[in-house]
Amino acid sequence: MKTSAYAKSLEALEARVRVELELMNHPSTPWVPARQHASGAPVYDVAIIGGGQSGLSILFALGLENVTNIVALDRNPAGREGPWMTYARMNLLRTNKNVTGPALGFPSLTPRAWYTAKHSPESWDALERFSRLEWQEYLDWYRRVLDLPVQNETEAGPLEPEHPDKADSLIRIPLKATGPSGQTGVIYAREVVLANGLEGCGKWHIPEVISGNLPSDRYVQANTEFDFDALRAKRVTVVGANASGFDAAAVALENGASRVDLLVRRPEIPKINAHRPLDTNTWHRHFADLDSATRWRLMVHIMRNNQPPPQDTFDRARNLPGFRMHEDFAIQTIRLEDDGIAIRSAKGDTLQADFVIAATGFICDFKLRVETSAIAQHIALWRDRYAPPAETDWEPMGTYPWLEGGFAFQEKEPGAAPWLHHIYCYSLGTKPSLGLTGGSASSIRFAVPRLIQDVSRQLFLDDEAHHTTALHGHDGIDLTL
Ligand SMILES: Cc1cc2nc3c(=O)[nH]c(=O)nc-3n(C[C@H](O)[C@H](O)[C@H](O)COP(=O)(O)OP(=O)(O)OC[C@H]3O[C@@H](n4cnc5c(N)ncnc54)[C@H](O)[C@@H]3O)c2cc1C
Repeated sequence: MKTSAYAKSLEALEARVRVELELMNHPSTPWVPARQHASGAPVYDVAIIGGGQSGLSILFALGLENVTNIVALDRNPAGREGPWMTYARMNLLRTNKNVTGPALGFPSLTPRAWYTAKHSPESWDALERFSRLEWQEYLDWYRRVLDLPVQNETEAGPLEPEHPDKADSLIRIPLKATGPSGQTGVIYAREVVLANGLEGCGKWHIPEVISGNLPSDRYVQANTEFDFDALRAKRVTVVGANASGFDAAAVALENGASRVDLLVRRPEIPKINAHRPLDTNTWHRHFADLDSATRWRLMVHIMRNNQPPPQDTFDRARNLPGFRMHEDFAIQTIRLEDDGIAIRSAKGDTLQADFVIAATGFICDFKLRVETSAIAQHIALWRDRYAPPAETDWEPMGTYPWLEGGFAFQEKEPGAAPWLHHIYCYSLGTKPSLGLTGGSASSIRFAVPRLIQDVSRQLFLDDEAHHTTALHGHDGIDLTL
């Protein structure tokens, strides 16, 4: 495109957004009949738990479908949803800068349109990848320009059905204020989407060998907000060779840690990103079309081999004095001794540290989350539905939810929770069932339309009688003589 064709300011871009929305605004009639609750509590057609990039995209997509009685709830303050301004520490996103993210087919809403309008086409050409700070700024702009209904500082859960024996039960959502602008009380929703983050099917993990042997002031999970000033002059050990581990190592050293030892359990740090092939139309669109055995086999391969940190993340840590990486260091014991924490590997290598950062991923367990704690026992998991052959057995993946082509949870025991399909899983828990769908910037374009199709279909079918009666009874006159 000629550089002169780009919007030259954010005001100009926002005017274009308004024009594009107007051009695409047909049909434009809200179609979901309103429901009341006897208590007077609000009843939403769709409530979304999480106001990060997923929650925002889903709100926008529902609006485009004229489903307008909607809300997203986020426990964090506005502008601090998700990892970017809270616990993420990388300078640049891993994602390719050309990602269309939450634009959902609207050119003026793309990250590129925003960046180019804010800076210039030349700055875009010079950009390597988005910084996490500018990515959050872009998301804030997207939310503002689309006027999306997010209720911040409000924690949602535990979810429960209002009528546990009814398939069309409303879902009850207790709210708790986590800040001055938060909301309390109870709301109801016909459909609930859990867009509650990468770890939304469980929690960030700290291995027992660490949590069971150290006092809690001697360790932290890497994906936690934490004051790195506290590590000044300290010896830090980072456990785990993922991107968060390298970021934590770099920030610890940048904040004055005397040394950082980063432990890699594998014989060598992975150099190939097994997830990379997933970021293509092939796999975004069609992973879910494969049979269970193939999906299981492929996803075990991908998740076991995982991904190395991005090159710049690795270099940032490696180039700092005091950084050491130890491959083939599987922790066997950790002990608090007089002169600090003694760490011993299975091979007999030893290290001393003052503080441990666990960059050790997350576990999938719906019981551990406030949203799903009261319904976890009803959610079908892979281990309930699929028995892998011994050579591809991998216990952690059996804990992921079993989804059937869409995002709605499936009942563990058919008939025991007939309302469960009104709750949709849009976290990384979708991975073995649907591929790289819930969450990441590059999958939004593929995943959100799929989710919206499911949600809209459910809203329609539950009101089938209303819609068919209205259609039969339609008596508007098109022709007068
Ligand atoms: C260190 C790090 C780096 C990453 N880098 C990239 C990257 O480069 N590219 C990429 O595409 N992805 C990256 N990811 C993955 C990233 O988390 C997701 O792509 C993105 O944040 C997903 O958006 P989301 O809206 O699904 O979840 P989030 O952004 O995590 O938002 C979820 C929101 O849900 C809220 N929430 C959760 N539970 C509740 C509750 N009960 N009540 C109310 N609110 C709740 C949280 O407060 C949070 O704001 C990275 C993740 C991490 C941890």
